[in-house]
Amino acid sequence: MAERRLQVTSRLGLHARAAANLVRVASRFKSSLTLQRVDGNAEADAKSILSILTLAASRGTDLRVVASGVDEQEALDAVVGLFSRDFDETEKPGAGLYSATQELRCKGLGVSDGIVIGRVLRLQEGTREVYRALIAEADLERERRRFRAAVRLSRRQLEAIKDRAEKELGRGHAYIFDAHLLFLEDAKLTRDVEDYIVRERSNAEWAAKVVGDRLLSIYTHINDEYLRERGSDIEDVIQRLLANLTGEGPKYPNLSEDAVIVSRDLLPSTIAEFDLNHVKAIATDAGGWTSHMAIIARGLGLPTVVGLRDFYQRTRTGDQIIVDARSGEVILHPAEPTLGEYQTNVHPPAPAPAVPQAVDCRPVSTLDGVQISLRANVELPAEFQAVRDFGSCGVGLFRSEFLLSRPGMMSSEEEQYETYKSLVEAAGDYGAIVRLFDVGGEVGPDVKERERNPALGLRAVRFNLRNKPIMRAQVRAILRAATAGPLSLVIPMIGDVADVRHAKKVIDEELERLENESASFSKVQIGAMIEIPSAVLTAEHIAGEVDFFELGTNDLVQYTLAVDRGNDKVSDWFRTLHPAVLYGINRTLQAARDASIPIIVCGEMASTPAYAVLLIGMGANDLSMIPAMIPRVRSVLSQIKAAEARDVASRCLKLATADEVEELVREEFKSRWPDLFPPNTLPKALENLQ
Ligand code: PEP
Ligand code: MG
Repeated sequence: MAERRLQVTSRLGLHARAAANLVRVASRFKSSLTLQRVDGNAEADAKSILSILTLAASRGTDLRVVASGVDEQEALDAVVGLFSRDFDETEKPGAGLYSATQELRCKGLGVSDGIVIGRVLRLQEGTREVYRALIAEADLERERRRFRAAVRLSRRQLEAIKDRAEKELGRGHAYIFDAHLLFLEDAKLTRDVEDYIVRERSNAEWAAKVVGDRLLSIYTHINDEYLRERGSDIEDVIQRLLANLTGEGPKYPNLSEDAVIVSRDLLPSTIAEFDLNHVKAIATDAGGWTSHMAIIARGLGLPTVVGLRDFYQRTRTGDQIIVDARSGEVILHPAEPTLGEYQTNVHPPAPAPAVPQAVDCRPVSTLDGVQISLRANVELPAEFQAVRDFGSCGVGLFRSEFLLSRPGMMSSEEEQYETYKSLVEAAGDYGAIVRLFDVGGEVGPDVKERERNPALGLRAVRFNLRNKPIMRAQVRAILRAATAGPLSLVIPMIGDVADVRHAKKVIDEELERLENESASFSKVQIGAMIEIPSAVLTAEHIAGEVDFFELGTNDLVQYTLAVDRGNDKVSDWFRTLHPAVLYGINRTLQAARDASIPIIVCGEMASTPAYAVLLIGMGANDLSMIPAMIPRVRSVLSQIKAAEARDVASRCLKLATADEVEELVREEFKSRWPDLFPPNTLPKALENLQ
């Protein structure tokens, strides 16, 4: 046995690239090579990168190198030599991807308020659960082969990525994939996974997850910021393996105190599942103002910037970041002066529109006496309290599908009953409207079964009619909770009167069953969400069969203009003021008036003051929006005349393009209400799309 004591002198300690070089050198020898911290805290196998990193050997750490075997002296000399040459790093650590600490500013779309300084937490899209399966004794060998095949596939992918990175970014930026390759083939990972498969008779996915999570937890506890961040590399590798085994994505990592979630895209259900005490802000590559993710983030008051295109790939977990949702900008690796500027500026998510002391929940009156009800849209039980605080006439829309926050999990009838009961209690005299689960599309209880074209697929009422037990449980919960106060039910994405009849048949059957069971329940008003063109065009028929309409302008824009509301690439085509959308709104309002049924406008349009004025101009008198926007909309509407709004709206309805409508709105609003609508509150002129 031969041993030597030495000290880590390189600035970044025994970091990933240095460790990779050490593994390469150590692996040339037959002898075992061990690194021991002199403080006795840890010991590592010098041939395993995963093991070396757990030493958390930062600069100044004293280590003992112990070699044992036929070539122990040569092995020891080679390792000591490597330490003295600072691990043969050809590039200064500062040149690599990790230390790419140059300030980087990216412009996206701010969809809420607030400025936050925090640390990046990368979250990959397509998150799915990994399930455990018990494998028959006879199949264990096949399971191990499946795992090895996934390792081989991952290796090929990583080698291809490394080659490309080398060509496009240079060697200094590609080294990290060497480290990923070493992680992937490290016996600490592969042997442990295979052992676990056999010992626990476990499927490969579960084994990889268990072993991966154990490794990750070691890195999360390392007391050195730089080395701790390497956890994200290991996570990348584990996720790649899992993806290659199953096509599945990652689990949620533990959230640090000041986590800024950076993702390509986020499922709304993922946000609903966050620990909101820890998540400080969100930045995503995809998304638009009306994507569900944005709506929820806004409702929760989380500073959020979407539409950042390729920002995700530029970040690493642990990077410092500023999210400025006011200007729609994110700043990665902010320089000192930028930080200084923002530190004095940071303000948490907006309780911006101050909550009045004595909140007025009554409808607001325009200057010429038209009464407008302002209600709240809520997504999560956590928001129920805000309903009264902001002076809402009850809850105009409860997006109940966010109760289904865990993939594959349905909320039971009993759980729903409790939720709807507390909703109706929070809503007060004006009551609440629960929407039947609008799952499918971008929201879904089971992301595993994503459809090719989800927005046009088994969404909303279609999902309900194809999943009757789920629908029945929700209907029963609503009918039972209605005994606690005024509660209504609205059916999402109605296509025509046939959809209404089918849904009402189920509701009637559940009413009858409850009656037969002598359960305590109340009949409820039933509404239809009008949000797709076929419903607009047959609105008169639908109006004859329901108690009220809700106008979902978010989907109405999406489906009328055939523009995906969550796709930032087409966000320039998502034109709320497109004349086709305005005709649809106008026609639906007219159909409700003709049938003498109430109609509530509940898309994001209602919460945008300038658009709210146009809605009033087309005859709307009931708007539902994010609670925090109610005071602002209330204030604007109390200072205009409905007659003037009607004049502007009727002129808009005569125009041919969204550009023309927006131009007219800018001009008219500027001259009629200059104090109410500063230019930044009006639609901006788009640059020529050509
Ligand atoms: C809408 O489509 O406008 C609406 C209110 O529903 P959601 O945004 O949940 O689709
Ligand atoms: Mg909708």
